[in-house]
Amino acid sequence: MDAKHDVLVIGAGCAGMRAAIEAHDAGANVGVVSKLHPTRSHSGAAEGGINAALGNTGEDDPEKHAFDTVKGSDYLGDQDAIEIFTREAPDDIYQLDHWGAFFSRNDEGRLAQRPFGAAGSPRTVFAADITGHVLIQVLYEQLSRRDISVYDEYFAWQLVLNDDRCQGVICWDLLSGGLKAIGGKTVILATGGAGRLYRATTNAYACTGDGMAMALRIGLPLKDMEFMQFHPTTLFPSGILLTEGCRGEGAYLLNSEGERFMKRYAPNAMELASRDVVSRSEQTEIDEGRGINGSVMLDMRHLGPERIIERLPGSRELSMTFAGVDPIYEPVPVRPGAHYHMGGVETDSDGLTELTGLYAAGEVACISVHGANRLGGNSLMETITFGRRAGRAAAEWALSHTTVEVPETVERDAERELRDLLWRRHGERPWRIRDELGASMLENFGVFREEQKMLRQLDIIDDLRERYETVHVEDKGEIFNTDLTQAIELGYMLDLAFCMLQAGVERKESRGAHARPHDYPERDDENFLMHSITRLVDAVPVLTYKDVRMTRWKPEARTY
Ligand SMILES: Cc1cc2nc3c(=O)[nH]c(=O)nc-3n(C[C@H](O)[C@H](O)[C@H](O)COP(=O)(O)OP(=O)(O)OC[C@H]3O[C@@H](n4cnc5c(N)ncnc54)[C@H](O)[C@@H]3O)c2cc1C
Repeated sequence: MDAKHDVLVIGAGCAGMRAAIEAHDAGANVGVVSKLHPTRSHSGAAEGGINAALGNTGEDDPEKHAFDTVKGSDYLGDQDAIEIFTREAPDDIYQLDHWGAFFSRNDEGRLAQRPFGAAGSPRTVFAADITGHVLIQVLYEQLSRRDISVYDEYFAWQLVLNDDRCQGVICWDLLSGGLKAIGGKTVILATGGAGRLYRATTNAYACTGDGMAMALRIGLPLKDMEFMQFHPTTLFPSGILLTEGCRGEGAYLLNSEGERFMKRYAPNAMELASRDVVSRSEQTEIDEGRGINGSVMLDMRHLGPERIIERLPGSRELSMTFAGVDPIYEPVPVRPGAHYHMGGVETDSDGLTELTGLYAAGEVACISVHGANRLGGNSLMETITFGRRAGRAAAEWALSHTTVEVPETVERDAERELRDLLWRRHGERPWRIRDELGASMLENFGVFREEQKMLRQLDIIDDLRERYETVHVEDKGEIFNTDLTQAIELGYMLDLAFCMLQAGVERKESRGAHARPHDYPERDDENFLMHSITRLVDAVPVLTYKDVRMTRWKPEARTY
């Protein structure tokens, strides 16, 4: 074993750093492993804001926030977790504020809050449209001032299962090469999402679902894997996100006839309906011939230059750089793109998984507060609130237990497996399989789902998994071998794609991000008000179901 800690956090985005800070402050010796430098984590790309019922802009309270979240989740969110989430969020925001997060302020000097989709009150706290960047900087400052070991540019590859506990992780050292075994009395997965399963996505290249796949491979259940959220405003053609904050500030969506088409789909909420609704509406406009080059238009002109420059400077710059359009003068072409995975590693509300010693927080986890559809602004808040809770719980367990061991046999087996992959002489290049996976997922498992397309996609995934068996890493070097790590990431994504499609085919209803307009257009609470649970049994993903935890809110028909 190369190093050991009380608490080992894998991932250094908002969830990982918040967990590490809390575990340290609870008295634990903490290590953080990350394949990227912490400040390059994808949380830094978050734009629009973070939700907490502060009531600074309108009347609000945690109960309203909870109800909106439950309703937005299409009643698939676990209500006990949601109540904890909305109750604890305000103090977590003040903590970030006191640490120095420079949130935007209103005229009274209080934290400003903007409206976001499907929120009953303006509750999204923001720092212009660079909220994630601000949070990442503040958390990194706090991490750096504590005695926390950071193993950045270490690629976590396999979780160590020993004595029925998770006791560490086997990593590939990206800078120097070679495997490293790092022990942890408790391990927290905070490896983020899996948007790169799709060709058109807002997610960075690093978002390949590694933590979910690592957990799946040691037998842990993944929950609600069929629910991939498509964000309605990603730039055409790059897929880069334009924040929901644009619509929060008042931007319109127009079709090729110049019509604000949302009035036909969501006459009350209009552009601020929940993301699943807006994405489906846009896709319908595009499919029915009222799009422009496969996109619709986001019009901000009426907001005026001052407001755009003050509140949405990043969105303006992205539009000018990547679409050649200045939103002060012209509407911007946008379309739905894969954005956020509601599913993930099943945990309780302290982040604990089914396996002693293993916790998860952030986008890798499914607690589940988002159910079938996440509300904008709730994810950053989840990383902070549940990152903190997981850090505290993992530290408390670690401090009351003494041993940690990564058996030598585990290290030897891992070394053999990795060298087999690295030294393989022939086979198919990973990028080919990755491209086919991304394109076919978009085609067959996108905003709308159809039985035949999903079955076709399952066949495609079977074929890609077979081809992956002989995948060929051309770069045989030790130093910064991204060819090797991308091959490993591809294996993770293929496993996850299979789980998503299997759960998608079997969910014979339309709920949240899973829309089957042709065969099962309605939500079916009688048969499917349940979480899907996928686990590997004898190396085959097996699907079961589990009840949704309800506290106060019974499912109601959705109105927009
Ligand atoms: C463009 C964009 C804008 C968004 N805007 C908002 C917003 O305004 N409000 C909101 O609430 N949500 C927003 N979201 C969603 C939200 O930002 C993310 O869900 C959240 O930041 C994820 O945080 P995380 O800590 O779970 O993961 P990440 O920030 O993605 O961090 C993952 C970490 O895990 C590490 N890692 C991954 N795999 C490995 C491995 N194998 N080995 C070692 N380390 C590994 C990475 O290096 C990284 O440090 C946005 C998402 C995107 C893509």
